[in-house]
Parts: sequence; structure tokens; C-alpha cells
Amino acid sequence: MKKRVFSGTRATGRLHLGNYLGAVKGYLALQEKPDIECVFMAVDVHTITTPYDHKNLKDATKNIIMDYLACGLDPEKVIVTIQSKVPEHSELSFLFSSVMSVARMQHLPTFKEKVKQHPDHVTMALLNYPILMAADILIYKASLVPVGIDQEPHLEITREIARKMNDLYGTDFPEPVRFATQGEYVPSLLGEGKMSKSVEGSSISLTDSLEIIKKKLAGAPTDSGKGDKVPEKGGVTNLLKFVELFEGSERRKQYEELYLGTGIKYGEMKEELAKAIYQELEPIQDKRKYFEEHPEEVDKIINDGAEKARKIASETLKEVKQKMGLL
Ligand code: ADP
Repeated sequence: MKKRVFSGTRATGRLHLGNYLGAVKGYLALQEKPDIECVFMAVDVHTITTPYDHKNLKDATKNIIMDYLACGLDPEKVIVTIQSKVPEHSELSFLFSSVMSVARMQHLPTFKEKVKQHPDHVTMALLNYPILMAADILIYKASLVPVGIDQEPHLEITREIARKMNDLYGTDFPEPVRFATQGEYVPSLLGEGKMSKSVEGSSISLTDSLEIIKKKLAGAPTDSGKGDKVPEKGGVTNLLKFVELFEGSERRKQYEELYLGTGIKYGEMKEELAKAIYQELEPIQDKRKYFEEHPEEVDKIINDGAEKARKIASETLKEVKQKMGLL
């Protein structure tokens, strides 16, 4: 059997630099490997675990797929589709929930963070999020998961579920590991935390124009531009990280030396950085236009992908149901 890979993105907004560097760049590297079978999804069912606009969900989900295709995902080489079109994920997730305790799920740092963000929406769906993610991955018996470092606690849950299912019911789930990229943690523009679709003002979208990128960077917090020590956290550190990611580590070093010497002129630094980011995004935006103009092609990719995914997913589900005494 070929080694399998699974990853997904929630349909909570347009893909941003964090999703691109932390996840999609990994997808692009893996899709080129002939000995690996990849499944990449817009995980719309995960979207409903936090407050969302139900009138907009379908469009938002399709936008993720179009962003994927614009970045270079090739449906000839990988399965690209939408999670809800493979309902086996949700069924397996319910079966998995029977081996996890409520206390274990409540103690996850990612759960606690979301509780802080949305104190009025602490739902069972939110608590179950990592279990659904485990089902997404394990239903394909995927052993490699290209995701950002923020997802590590969820992967730990996935491995735990795999071990428990294997011990209790004799299944043969792998214990999946993260496929890391250079941009495994892209910071927020706000100077604190990670870049996220669901944190207003934190991100640069793949569809942002040069003008918008300039405007967003202009608002990123800085300081006087010089000091005895290069800051190790906060707005300036984050800007330096962006420089490293888009202009290289040499350029970052030059700025660090400036900081300790004559000082950084942030206006100029941000202008140069905006151009470097846009240079990477422009070809993606051009490719996206093609898919926007050919929605029927996108629908076909989604439907073909769902059919292929369901073939694998239904087999795993059947096997688990048999082993659990349900069939
Ligand atoms: P978001 O938090 O923006 O809603 P998702 O939860 O949909 O993002 O994550 C989609 C993928 O992008 C995951 O693999 C996740 O690890 C990755 N990712 C999200 N934010 C970042 C970030 N700031 N840096 C690196 N990777 C990220």
C-alpha cells in the first residue's frame, strides 16, 4: 500500500500566508512524490465548531478549493475535495469519541484557547474538533500530515486514538506524524500569537493586492528601530520572521545588524517586504482567476475527488464497524 497523506483547511476565510507556508507548501512538496497518495480537503464540517455564517459557508468552502488549485495542487496527482462530501468522516469520528474521555479533551490547550475566543460558543462540536480531525486522518490510514506547528496537540490526540483503537479492537491505524515546512509557525501581524483566519487583522490573504499588503504591514507594530538587543518577541520579531520567510535569512541578519547599529527604517523595510510578499502571491492570483472563470471545472474536481476519497473512507469505516461489533 502506498504511504498516505491527509491535510485540510477550515472554511473560515481566504487562505493566508500562515496556511500557505505552514501547510500548502508541504502539500506541494508531497504531491510530487509518486510513492505517496495525498488527500487534501476544505474541511467545512470543522468550520461549524466556532461561530460561522451559514449563508456563506458553501462559497467559503469553494474558495478554499480554488485557493488550493491556485497554489498549484494538481487533481491529476492528488485527491482534492470537500470534507462534508465524504460523510464517513463524521461517522468514524463518533465511533472514535467512544475511546476518549471528556476530561482529556477539555485539557487541550487549543480547546482552552477557543473557549477564551468564543466564551458563548463552547459546544460539543468544539470539544469534538480534534476527534473529527483524527477521523479525517485515520480514515485514510495516513501516516504523514502536513500541518502547521499549532496542530501538534491535535496530532497527539490522533496518535492516542490510533493506539487505543488498535489495542481495543485490533485495527491497524498508523500513528501519524507532522510533515513540517520552513514556515511551520507564521506569526500574526498584530505582534502577538499566530496568523489566523479567525483573528481579525492578523493575516495577509493570498488574494490581497500589493496595496492591501502595504496597508496591512503599515499597521504592524514596531518600536524606535534600534536598541542593545534585537527583540525576541512582539511586532519587530514578527517582521523579522516575515523578512526571513520572504527575503531570506541573510536579509534578516542585515536588519538585525542595523537594529544594533544605525537603526531600522521601518517604512522602507515594510515597503520592501510588501513587494517581496506580493511577488510570491502574484502568480497564485493569476492562476486563481482561471478557476474563478471556470466554476464547472472546480465542481468536477471536487466531485471526482469525493468519489475517490469515499472509496477509501468507506472501506476503513466498514472495517472499524466490523471490529467494533457493529457489523
Ligand atoms: P486558521 O487558524 O487560519 O483558521 P486552519 O485551522 O484552517 O487555519 O489551518 C489550516 C492549516 O494551516 C493547518 O495545517 C494549520 O496548521 C496551518 N496554519 C494555520 N495558521 C498557521 C500559521 N500561522 N503558521 C503556520 N501554519 C498555520
